[in-house]
Amino acid sequence: SKEQGRDRYQFYSSTMTSKVSEWLRLEHLLHQALVNEELFLVYQPQLDLESGKIFGMEALLRWHNPELGLVSPAKFIPLAEDNGLIVPIGEWALLSACAQIKAWQLLGIEPFKVSVNLSARQFQNANLVEMVTQILQETEIDPQWLELEITETTIMQNVNFARQALEKLQQIGVRISLDDFGTGYSSLGYLKQFPFHTLKIDQSFVRDLKENSRDTAIISAVIALGRGLNLRVIAEGVETQQQLELLRNLQCEAIQGYWLSKPLIAAEVVNFLTCHAKM
Ligand code: C2E
Ligand code: CA
Ligand code: CA
Ligand code: CA
Repeated sequence: SKEQGRDRYQFYSSTMTSKVSEWLRLEHLLHQALVNEELFLVYQPQLDLESGKIFGMEALLRWHNPELGLVSPAKFIPLAEDNGLIVPIGEWALLSACAQIKAWQLLGIEPFKVSVNLSARQFQNANLVEMVTQILQETEIDPQWLELEITETTIMQNVNFARQALEKLQQIGVRISLDDFGTGYSSLGYLKQFPFHTLKIDQSFVRDLKENSRDTAIISAVIALGRGLNLRVIAEGVETQQQLELLRNLQCEAIQGYWLSKPLIAAEVVNFLTCHAKM
């Protein structure tokens, strides 16, 4: 009936309004997050399966807001990408990671590389290379300890710009990692064109990994590809001993995931490394 139709309309309309106002509220709070120092980085270790050594950590953003509690990056990164806030937030993340690299080195810890995620928006920014160069100078770290993670989707948005930026970044000595490999589009073409150091096999291939499965075939092909192109291949999202064993059998070089460690706050990293070295 007409009556029901109107009720239904009002129902949808009010849910939409509340979605919009939730988004706006989140946006407002995210604007203040930088100023109020509510953002921080956590670091997830990466293990070389052959040497048993921790060779790197991925820096991942966290937002703790007094009202909202801990907000997942899956929620606030898309928002920040949408409204452009990812540019200052991403710059903060890079500076913070580089300052942390320096701090660990001053503590006398054996150096390892730190990977920082770059979003598509940052990648479209003409100042990207300058920004990275300036942060490296300011924090006085050797560029070889910094790796930048980008996805195929990011490259796709402006292939020519991406090529120039990546070549310049490589020239200054920064490493480049291709994240979420296998989930985007013409991956193989990008591998030919761009100067990557690392390939990260997306966790969707690792999640349901079983012997003789399609995932196994894909992963072993990517590992062979990485070896042929002289890239370090890291499997992401390794949670179980079984996944680890299967990856070992496939001669996977390196892993990252909950099996090894959840992302850690900076203060926990030193302890993790000390315990790991004793194992
Ligand atoms: P990503 O770059 O693919 O990062 C890997 C995600 O997998 C992280 O989620 C990590 O905590 C999670 N993870 C690690 N090990 C496991 C595991 O064994 N099992 C499962 N299920 N998950 C695992 P997180 O920290 O929630 O970040 C989500 C995404 O947000 C990232 O995906 C990245 O795209 C984005 N992100 C995080 N930090 C930054 C940043 O500083 N800048 C930018 N632009 N994006 C970021
Ligand atoms: Ca990543
Ligand atoms: Ca990833
Ligand atoms: Ca991802």
